[in-house]
Amino acid sequence: MGRGFGEGGLIVPEGMTRQPVLIAGAGISGLTAAIALSRAGVPVILAERRAGFSEAGAGLQLSPNATRVLTTLGLAAGVGRYAMAPRRLDIRRWSDERAFAGMPMQEQPEADAAPFWSLKRGDLQTALVDAMRMMPGVRLMVGRAVCDVEQGGDGVVVTIENERGQRERLEASALVGADGLWSGVRAALGDRGEPRFLGYQAWRTLVPARDAEAFARDRSVALWLGRHGHAVHYPVDEGRFVNLVVIRKGQTAQQDWSGPGNPADLVDIASSAAAPLRKLIHAAPAWQVWSLFDRKPAAMALGHVALIGDAAHPVLPFLAQGASMAVEDAGLLARLIAPAWTSSEPGALQSALADFARQRMGRVAKVQDAARGNGRMYHAGFPLSAARDLALTQLGDAGMRKRYAWLYGWRMA
Ligand SMILES: Cc1cc2nc3c(=O)[nH]c(=O)nc-3n(C[C@H](O)[C@H](O)[C@H](O)COP(=O)(O)OP(=O)(O)OC[C@H]3O[C@@H](n4cnc5c(N)ncnc54)[C@H](O)[C@@H]3O)c2cc1C
Repeated sequence: MGRGFGEGGLIVPEGMTRQPVLIAGAGISGLTAAIALSRAGVPVILAERRAGFSEAGAGLQLSPNATRVLTTLGLAAGVGRYAMAPRRLDIRRWSDERAFAGMPMQEQPEADAAPFWSLKRGDLQTALVDAMRMMPGVRLMVGRAVCDVEQGGDGVVVTIENERGQRERLEASALVGADGLWSGVRAALGDRGEPRFLGYQAWRTLVPARDAEAFARDRSVALWLGRHGHAVHYPVDEGRFVNLVVIRKGQTAQQDWSGPGNPADLVDIASSAAAPLRKLIHAAPAWQVWSLFDRKPAAMALGHVALIGDAAHPVLPFLAQGASMAVEDAGLLARLIAPAWTSSEPGALQSALADFARQRMGRVAKVQDAARGNGRMYHAGFPLSAARDLALTQLGDAGMRKRYAWLYGWRMA
């Protein structure tokens, strides 16, 4: 089929009468959705409130359920070049450096085995932006916030506003809210409940490898469990940095959700840590602190509007699944929208979005619950902590992998 230029340089398939899909937010979920939709032949307008793509440099993990989707989207090489593949997860008590439980991180070789990756957030974003820029069907509008949506019979009319307060109305066949925890699109769907602060703060840093102890440079993910918080670290960036996250319990919410952290505030929790962890905490050059909020999953679709990623279901970072869920959402949404977008059947798009919501709700709620459960289990006090440690030890490598098979084994239908 030939291709012609649509308004604003967007290449839309010739003869198509439907409007593009508009995505609000170019975070991990919005970028992945834009790439996936464009690959499936659906033109996209991607509106991002921020004027650029600067990203705090901490790390994240992508598990096989997400890397399998990235592979399907042709993104494995682009993202994989920035990623490391940790061999193991090792679990330790806060004040004892001996690992008492764990599991291998990489899947056994099989037809569609997918890797478990650790990488810098900024690198993931760079890889996704690079891939998105190669897609002919994506029109990127930065410095534009989606601020209003009206639903109509055939699609939506979306109002976007630039940094000078100038407004523009765009027609789209559907709106995808990928605008994060504080989603305005979610509010526009009538869900006005606020995210709930849970009393946790996440302190994130990148420790240069030359300043980190050898054990922290090991190609593994380390999880340290304590009564007042826990820590996770793993190497990123070809081993040049160790990504370290310290979660503290019993904190107050920061005014702006995220901001720089004062290392002096970590001295008390660090003092009770085993020596290697304490040294790693003290080696951190700077900290960025996030207050952690929880929120029930939204109704993920209404009419011509769908929600994905943190906008729909923020996941506490105790299962390392927020970004992976965003990738799952994006892949499945594109798979379901694509045939509906070309269909001449009335209501096909709304049905596809409703189907998307139906297929996702159970899974995202289960993942959110599992992350909450990890929070309770990680920070258990004695004697519960002793029972937890015994149970984890008894599980062994094979039992632990089996326990997470439902999570990492997910495949797009
Ligand atoms: C401490 C910590 C550790 C984590 N570790 C992991 C991990 O190891 N693995 C993992 O999978 N996940 C992890 N996560 C979670 C993960 O970072 C998020 O789930 C993920 O980034 C969500 O992506 P998103 O695209 O949905 O939202 P966001 O990344 O929040 O992106 C939303 C985008 O929308 C834009 N936007 C907002 N409003 C508008 C608007 N009105 N119009 C247009 N644009 C708008 C924003 O500027 C932003 O670019 C962690 C999170 C934390 C806090």
